[in-house]
Amino acid sequence: MQVPLLDLKAQYATIKDEVLAAVSEVLETQRCIGGPKVAELEQKIAAVSDCKFAVGASSGTDAILNSLMSLDIGCGDEVITTPFTFFATIGCIARAGAKPVFVDIDPKTYNINPELIEAAVTEKTKAILPVHLYGQMADMDAIVASAKKHNLAVIEDAAQSISSTYKGKKAGSCGTVGCFSFFPSKNLGGIGDGGMVVTNNEELYERLLIMRNHGSQPKYYHKYVGGNFRLDPIQAAALLVKLPHLDDWSAARRKNAAYYNEKFAQTPVQTPFISPDCVSIYNQYIVRVPKRDELVAHLQSKNIGCEIYYPVTMHLQECFASLGYKQGDFPESEKAAKEVMALPIYPELTDEMKDFVAETILEKIN
Ligand SMILES: *Cc1c(COP(=O)(O)O)cnc(C)c1O
Repeated sequence: MQVPLLDLKAQYATIKDEVLAAVSEVLETQRCIGGPKVAELEQKIAAVSDCKFAVGASSGTDAILNSLMSLDIGCGDEVITTPFTFFATIGCIARAGAKPVFVDIDPKTYNINPELIEAAVTEKTKAILPVHLYGQMADMDAIVASAKKHNLAVIEDAAQSISSTYKGKKAGSCGTVGCFSFFPSKNLGGIGDGGMVVTNNEELYERLLIMRNHGSQPKYYHKYVGGNFRLDPIQAAALLVKLPHLDDWSAARRKNAAYYNEKFAQTPVQTPFISPDCVSIYNQYIVRVPKRDELVAHLQSKNIGCEIYYPVTMHLQECFASLGYKQGDFPESEKAAKEVMALPIYPELTDEMKDFVAETILEKIN
């Protein structure tokens, strides 16, 4: 048996005709930039996120970059964030010209530890950028409270957590802005790159719209130095076909997670901790195991897909050496980087596949 980490063909088979029709509709109009599909998706993603406004983006990365630029965060500014994330989070802060200031994670949820934020605030701090890792939101009440106290913006990197909740509030709706990614492996994935910013702040919304179009308003008159951060209408068309399935797909992932949780109960495999405040969408199902690298190699030899998100924390990346961090600065993040691994969790997994994954793991470590 083969169990890939993700099988996009299995999902595509269930919606192929609709996707082809929607893409063809865009092609027939030859409205290749912007247009009604992008506007419709923006309106629907705003609704899904309990936000008033949404602005399409060319990727999740560009959603974060546009947010930082539209909030006027740049040279001389500091942004407090987590070192245990995908590179894009930190790359955007650096490319905006600002300085990422790391604080360690909560070892149970892998999200930023809000208790450590206060000590990292300086006069230069402009924003807190929590990441809702693996499908579970960070502790937003505590983060928003720190932000209010110091008059900081909150930028939610919700790339892995669209439509997940914290105390009933949707990802993207707790902070100043929320950023989503439609990278194909996310719960709501396009047929290429795409992203979205959501906000309840109308002034910021106007700014995001201008900034994504080279900062021009009107055309050829540049108010800001923006970029081309536009969402492609072909992506919007495919995403509109997929969006009605999002809740079912996320529920199927939760069911798969519960199945694994039962298999791994009372074993050395440490299963995900989901806070009682949160509903996770399980973009990843993460376990902690002893001798992780040996187990990864073993699963690969048995044709089981698995991946390490993420093997190197951001404070130890070569490109951020000038920030002056060193090994040992963020022990929980560094420990997680050595111990975590992601197992297949996609909605179309069969019970036989999950059994095979669980049994292969337990055979090796027991
Ligand atoms: C996927 C991801 C991004 C970037 O999204 P892209 O659409 O690939 O640019 C940013 N942050 C996190 C945490 C992600 O998982």
